[in-house]
Amino acid sequence: MRRTSITHEFVEYIPGKLAEAVLYISITYRTAVHQCVCGCGNKVITPIGPADWQLFYDGETVSLTPSIGNWDFPCRSHYWIRSNQVRWSSDWTDERIAAGQARDNRERERYFASREAVEHEPEAAETTNGDRRRPLAWLRRRSRS
Ligand SMILES: [Zn+2]
Repeated sequence: MRRTSITHEFVEYIPGKLAEAVLYISITYRTAVHQCVCGCGNKVITPIGPADWQLFYDGETVSLTPSIGNWDFPCRSHYWIRSNQVRWSSDWTDERIAAGQARDNRERERYFASREAVEHEPEAAETTNGDRRRPLAWLRRRSRS
């Protein structure tokens, strides 16, 4: 059954067993986790960060942006969490998903490019070490936690 609302719980560690319709938020690990609100029970992990999801807490309710698109699940659910309400989107076509993912990748690249520029500016010699894979490794580390 499709949910239309969700509650949130601030935790340090994400519990192994998730309750339905609860968004678990760990500030320590900058991650939010919930069960897909379509009812399929799949675990949705949304890392929180400038290049990932942004979490808004108004003192009573939470919102996540951008939207959550569970394209890897059979349900292919797509929805927004706004003020603890679930706003459902119509199913996206494959083309639109690909376009969205391409846009996300471009934004990530831009973000990491600006980050690298700032980090390496004072020591230009360091950029010659050929370590161009670092941002990806950083992302992988983050998404495992
Ligand atoms: Zn689902």
